[in-house]
Amino acid sequence: MQVVIAGAGVMGRLLAWQLARAGHRVAVVDPAEGPAQPGAAAFTAAGMLSPLAEREHASAEVAALGWRSLALWPAIAQALGQPALVRTAGSLLLAHGPDLGAAQRVLSRLPAGPQPLDRAALHALEPALVPDLKAWLLPGEGQLLPHELLQALARQAPDVDWFWGRRATCVRPRRLELDDGQWLDADLVIDTRGLGAQPDLAALRGVRGEVLWLHAPGVALHHPVRLLHPRHRVYLVPRPGDIIVVGASEVESEDRSPVSLRSAVELLSAAHSVLPGLAEARIVHMETNLRPALPDHQPHLAREPGLLRINGLFRHGWLLAPALAEQVLDHV
Ligand SMILES: Cc1cc2nc3c(=O)[nH]c(=O)nc-3n(C[C@H](O)[C@H](O)[C@H](O)COP(=O)(O)OP(=O)(O)OC[C@H]3O[C@@H](n4cnc5c(N)ncnc54)[C@H](O)[C@@H]3O)c2cc1C
Repeated sequence: MQVVIAGAGVMGRLLAWQLARAGHRVAVVDPAEGPAQPGAAAFTAAGMLSPLAEREHASAEVAALGWRSLALWPAIAQALGQPALVRTAGSLLLAHGPDLGAAQRVLSRLPAGPQPLDRAALHALEPALVPDLKAWLLPGEGQLLPHELLQALARQAPDVDWFWGRRATCVRPRRLELDDGQWLDADLVIDTRGLGAQPDLAALRGVRGEVLWLHAPGVALHHPVRLLHPRHRVYLVPRPGDIIVVGASEVESEDRSPVSLRSAVELLSAAHSVLPGLAEARIVHMETNLRPALPDHQPHLAREPGLLRINGLFRHGWLLAPALAEQVLDHV
C-alpha cells in the first residue's frame, strides 16, 4: 500500500517505521526541519512508562494498552539496534511521612501492584533518596529516551519519503495537501498531527506541561521516581550524562511560553525534598509543550475508508504508541 502520514511525533514515526518494515510505501510530512528538530510533544516527554501509577487519572483501557506497549518497546529498541533506549526495571512511588494519608488515598485508587519498601529495601535500591521516605516499588514499569528513539525511528526508516519542513494543510481520505498546494495521493492517509489536527478535531485541546533538566554529576538515581504529594505530582527521571529530568506541570492552557517561576519552584523544591544531593545540580534546560487531549482523556482512533486518525494521546503518547501501532498494522 501507499501510505501518507501527517505528523512525525512518536505516533507518526513509529507507524512509518513499522509500515515500511512491513513492506508498504510510506511518506511522512512534518513542519520540523529534520528528524532532530524538537517541536513534537514527544520530544518534551519525560519518557515514563507508567501504566500503574497513571491509573490515578487514567482509564483501565489506557492501562491495558500501556502494559501491552511495555511488552512491545524492548523488542522495538532491539530492532532499532539500541536496546538500552528502553528500560523496564520498575519505578518508585514516594511520599513524605506527613503526606502518607494523601498518598494512601492515591494508592487505594490504584490496582494491586505497588509493593511497599521498608527503609533498608529503599536504601538498597536508591541510596541517594531521603531514607525515611515512604516508598513503593512498581514492578514492570519503565522509561525510555524520547530524543534518541525519535531520531532512531526516522533514521532507520531510509525507505520512507520524509517531507521535512512541510505542513499538511488538508488531510482527506486517500489524499493530503501540502503547504505549497501540491496533493499527495495514497491508498491510506494517517493523521498523527497531535495538536496540529485541531482544524479537523474541534474538541482537541492542548494541556501545558513543563519540565526542567538538571545536570547532577555524582547524584545516582537508578529508577524513575514519582512523589505522591497533596498538591503536586512530581517525577524525577534519570537520563544518561548525569541528567535528571524533573516534571511535569499540568496546566489547562495552550500557552507555550517559557516555564513559569511557580512551576519551577514547585517542581524543583519537591525534587530536592526527596533527593537532597540535587542542591548543587545545575539547571541546564527548561521546556514547555502541549499535550494533545480530548475531553475524555482517552486515545482516539477513528477509521474511515482511506483515512485513519489517531489523536488524544494526552499524557501517554509513549506509553500507548506501540499498542496503537499494533492495531493499525492489523487494520492495514
Ligand atoms: C511535559 C510533557 C511530559 C510528558 N511525559 C510523558 C511521559 O512521561 N510518558 C508518555 O507516555 N507521554 C508523555 N507525554 C505525552 C506525549 O508526549 C504525547 O502524548 C505524545 O507526544 C503525543 O504523540 P503524537 O504523535 O500524537 O503528537 P506529537 O508528539 O505532538 O507529534 C505531532 C507531530 O505532528 C506535527 N504536525 C503538526 N501540525 C502538522 C501539520 N499541519 N502537518 C504535518 N505535521 C504536523 C508536529 O510537528 C509533530 O511533529 C508528555 C508530554 C509533555 C508535554
